[in-house]
Amino acid sequence: MTQVSINERVLDISSGSPKLLGVRCKSCDNHMFPTQKGCPKCAGTDIEPIELGTRGTLWAWTIQGFPPKAPPYLGEVDPAKFEPYGVGYIEIPGQAKIEARLTEADPTKLSAGMDMELVAQPLCTDDDGNEIVTFAFAPVATE
Ligand SMILES: [Zn+2]
Repeated sequence: MTQVSINERVLDISSGSPKLLGVRCKSCDNHMFPTQKGCPKCAGTDIEPIELGTRGTLWAWTIQGFPPKAPPYLGEVDPAKFEPYGVGYIEIPGQAKIEARLTEADPTKLSAGMDMELVAQPLCTDDDGNEIVTFAFAPVATE
């Protein structure tokens, strides 16, 4: 099954490992994700594309317990089949705090400051049989 990014301007999976695409303001070093045309901090427009780090720490989170509004949501919206999932803010060191899905939906398994890593998470299948993947963060296994 071919995997397709939910949005190639946000999530690049072409190399086989997921990468998040953001931008950096050259004037004030503000990092933004997803991509913006201008910098909200200094109103600068001199921005350049960057790849965000794939590891970060969990900062805040909640559990999405019911289907989000669709569209734009592409996943399961039937309340009988919907499975809750975590949503959190991940702090990418030296870059930005970004909002993302979490692979873990059990709040007792999440804690502030825990290490998280980027994964591509299957969301649904399109009409051509491609698997649409979105970005999510998974707790880093500690062994
Ligand atoms: Zn700026």
